[in-house]
Amino acid sequence: MENIFQRSGVFAVSAPSGTGKTTLNSRLEKLHPDVEISISLTTRKQRSGEIDGKHYHFVDNATFQKNATEGRMLEWAEVFGNLYGTSISEIERITKKNHKVILEIDVQGWMTAQPKLPGALAVFILPPSMIDLWNRLEKRGTDSPQVRWRRFKAARDEIAAGRIYDFFIVNDDLERAYGELEAIIVHGEPGRISGKAGHALCDRLLNEFQQSSKILELKAIHEET
Ligand code: ADP
Ligand code: 5GP
Repeated sequence: MENIFQRSGVFAVSAPSGTGKTTLNSRLEKLHPDVEISISLTTRKQRSGEIDGKHYHFVDNATFQKNATEGRMLEWAEVFGNLYGTSISEIERITKKNHKVILEIDVQGWMTAQPKLPGALAVFILPPSMIDLWNRLEKRGTDSPQVRWRRFKAARDEIAAGRIYDFFIVNDDLERAYGELEAIIVHGEPGRISGKAGHALCDRLLNEFQQSSKILELKAIHEET
């Protein structure tokens, strides 16, 4: 049987929460009608401004588990206490139109999906620095200080696993970062940063995390009280 994923056109785009993945991917989807972000299933509560069936399919735990046990998910993972996953039918829906698919999945999700998607490319978006990441999470204003701190700690674990990605993009200047993502996904060009250079970037951010984490944790605890 033909493996429908065994062709180019499927891209995983991951980033530590707050790096700018949604900003970059949404712009790409808006400007290029043949690029679609796969709509995941999640058990997370809908945030204000989010539309069911557009941003996610918001489902309860039982529905999510049913889809998983009946083998309808390409991958799924628990992220920050909620379940998120990609259904096989969603990828089929998009690839049948000959559109490119972006999987906005976390690092665990890509680890599961990678062996099932031999033709896919994976891009890891990185913040310019850990302090910038902290400030963006603060600026976005969607989380309590405690949740923000959890996301920040999770960013360290994601960056530590970043070596499994093909290309790396630093989202410092939004225009430049967008141009790099567009070049890879729309124009099929190799990314500017890959291999050892990408791994060195991840190592630098991990060092920074070590140096800044104590003070930021204290800041989060102080704000919470
Ligand atoms: P993610 O989807 O990775 O969690 P978002 O796209 O929601 O991140 O972006 C987090 C915050 O950072 C938002 O407030 C967004 O406007 C801001 N942001 C994104 N890219 C940049 C950038 N290059 N420079 C400064 N702020 C940015
Ligand atoms: P948010 O709650 O901010 O929308 O997303 C939280 C995290 O869940 C992000 O890191 C995002 O990449 C991840 N995520 C969203 N959809 C999926 C999915 O289908 N599978 C996996 N594994 N992760 C997902």
